[in-house]
Order: sequence, then C-alpha cells, then structure tokens
Amino acid sequence: METEEIAQHPCRYCEKEIPHWRRNKVFCGETCKYNFHNAKRSMAEESFGDYHRMIKRNYEILNNALGENRYVEIPELHLKNSGFGFDFCTFAMGSYRYCYDLSYRLADHQKKIYAITVVSNERQEEMNQAIKNAFRSFR
Ligand SMILES: [Zn+2]
Repeated sequence: METEEIAQHPCRYCEKEIPHWRRNKVFCGETCKYNFHNAKRSMAEESFGDYHRMIKRNYEILNNALGENRYVEIPELHLKNSGFGFDFCTFAMGSYRYCYDLSYRLADHQKKIYAITVVSNERQEEMNQAIKNAFRSFR
C-alpha cells in the first residue's frame, strides 16, 4: 500500500500551522480559504490570469450547456446566475464570440428571446442555419 507523506506547511492566508486533521489542505480552515480567495479575486481582477480564468469559466458554462448537442439556446438569466462573463472571449468576429473551440452568439435582436448559441467551430455553418430556423419560428 502506498502512503502519501504530506509535509507540514503554514496556512496560505494566516500563515499559522495547519492543524493535523487538515494537513492535506492549503488553509487552516474554511474562513481562511474564503478570505484568501476573496482577497485574491478583488486584488487581481484585471490581471491576465483572471482574464483567462474568466474565459475558462465561460468555456465550462458553455460546454456544460452544450452537452451532447451541436447547438443550444441558453437563457441570459442562466448565464448571469452561472457567473458568465459577457466581456471575456478568446476571439470575436462580428456578432460571434469564441471560447477556444466553442463559439456563441448573442441573440438579442429578437425581443422574445435572449439566447446564446454554442457550437464547435466545425459546426458553424449548421449553427448558422439552425439560428435562422429558430428565429423564423419566433416571428
Ligand atoms: Zn489560516
């Protein structure tokens, strides 16, 4: 049987010794964990690292919503509740935004829906057609 030795180390936030029952953790407790991430977030909100984290988060949200589908419409509220950052993407072209190999489009020109369509790049043409069909059915 393998045993994993974890060296003693101080809490990353308060720098006190981490109690033995949490020795595989980075923080001495949940409060320090929360405070550390909170401080980090507010300190480095505009940093390069956080920009990429936002893109990654967006990608995860889009990818989860997409699932096995080629395209999907996502209500704006769902995106907002998920913490989707509308200003973060890897590439923008016209009304399309890209997050790595996924793309989406803000569909706000029809008052009845506010959706984002996501699809892999190679499905772009199919998606364009699907969007047209979807909008046609809303008229
Ligand atoms: Zn601590």
